[in-house]
Amino acid sequence: MPRVLIEQALCKGCERCVEACPQKILGMSKKINPMGYFMAQVEEQPRCIGCCLCAISCPDCAIQVGMGGTQYRLFEY
Ligand code: SF4
Ligand code: SF4
Repeated sequence: MPRVLIEQALCKGCERCVEACPQKILGMSKKINPMGYFMAQVEEQPRCIGCCLCAISCPDCAIQVGMGGTQYRLFEY
């Protein structure tokens, strides 16, 4: 089963991942991270299809998608 990890300290709350998710399982937390932004969060992990669109859409490389024990971190540079 795919697993989405959002590194909360890196999130700037732009909501691009929320818009990009075809399953609409991402949302915004009411908590604020150390940088002062509301953070994205996974709301229905079991419905994730592992498409990685959330990770691709994140301009801050804050999202990792893990599948079958392997973690893919996209666009790390
Ligand atoms: S991997 Fe795909 S389905 Fe899962 S949270 Fe990201 S965009 Fe949504
Ligand atoms: S796209 Fe990245 S920075 Fe923007 S809300 Fe999602 S996790 Fe946060």
